[in-house]
Amino acid sequence: MAFITINKAHFFHNLDLLCAKAGGKTKLMAVLKDNAYGHDLRTMAELAAEYGLLRAAVKNIEEAESIADLFEEVLVLVDHPTCKTLSPSISFATHSYEALQALPEGASIHLSLDSGMHRNGIKEEDIEAAMALIHAKKLRLKGVFTHFRSADELNSELFWQRANFERAKLKIKAIAQAYGMPSIAFHSCNSAALLRVSSIGSDDYARSGIAMYGYTTLPSSIASFDLKPVLALWAEKLSSRILKQGERVGYGGVYEAKEDELISTYDIGYGDGFFRFDGFTPVPMADGSLTKGRMSMDSFCLGGDAKKVCMFEDANPLAKQFNTISYEIITKLYPALKRVII
Ligand SMILES: *Cc1c(COP(=O)(O)O)cnc(C)c1O
Repeated sequence: MAFITINKAHFFHNLDLLCAKAGGKTKLMAVLKDNAYGHDLRTMAELAAEYGLLRAAVKNIEEAESIADLFEEVLVLVDHPTCKTLSPSISFATHSYEALQALPEGASIHLSLDSGMHRNGIKEEDIEAAMALIHAKKLRLKGVFTHFRSADELNSELFWQRANFERAKLKIKAIAQAYGMPSIAFHSCNSAALLRVSSIGSDDYARSGIAMYGYTTLPSSIASFDLKPVLALWAEKLSSRILKQGERVGYGGVYEAKEDELISTYDIGYGDGFFRFDGFTPVPMADGSLTKGRMSMDSFCLGGDAKKVCMFEDANPLAKQFNTISYEIITKLYPALKRVII
């Protein structure tokens, strides 16, 4: 059966680079949302904890509960809180005043601040009201964070948003002190921002996802980094046959043999989360060999009869071919594919 390899040395290498940039292992929150960007949540959480990271961020409560034993804190980025009793390490990102109102009393939260992306978060002018509500509801304000919209683009927007966040920080710190709240952790940088800035400044940590897995969308005109992709996708052979000259293989018969040739079918298809290819533009495998014909739901064809084939160990060329970003190529991979740490 098809499988995914997780390269532990590459993962730790990327973490070394990111922790050096952030200022130590305590300054990096591992973003493990969406099944750890397709790598497998529990596998990557265990490796991150073994490395010495103390914090993680995930998408929903289910993801948070499955790794809550491994970290001091697990931040839920998207899900709505419930009144159910959750592990004490779990806290919630709160993206609006309405979300604050809906929270159960005493919940642990990180307040999301809109510093210019205008996707989520409290506006600067609503800070006083939000802090008053947090105080009144006895919510445990563990952190305040923002997100950058253009950290990987060659313009000054990142620095404009950083300045906005700094201003909001001062405001929040003053109000928290007046209310006698415990100290608050501030965080803003995602991978691209962390790689781009000279230091995380007065932030307490950075939230990194994609760079831990070995990728960046920062253009090389800004800078390049020695990141190593962690995941590789392998398919195994299902069957082989001789395709006679003039015979055509697969749906639509898109590929036609120019001469008699040995061809094999492999056990990955678009049902496994790989982008479907229509057969008109062949897709190169890791060794450069080209797909033949159209991809099926559970299989595709290649020349030769190798027992297994590495479909990719670097998602960047595929991202380019399918007009998307590395994030999407890896995140879509089906959770049921077996993960093997190498
Ligand atoms: C996904 C996400 C991140 C991580 O972004 P990367 O670009 O993968 O480093 C950080 N913060 C928030 C709020 C996110 O949703």
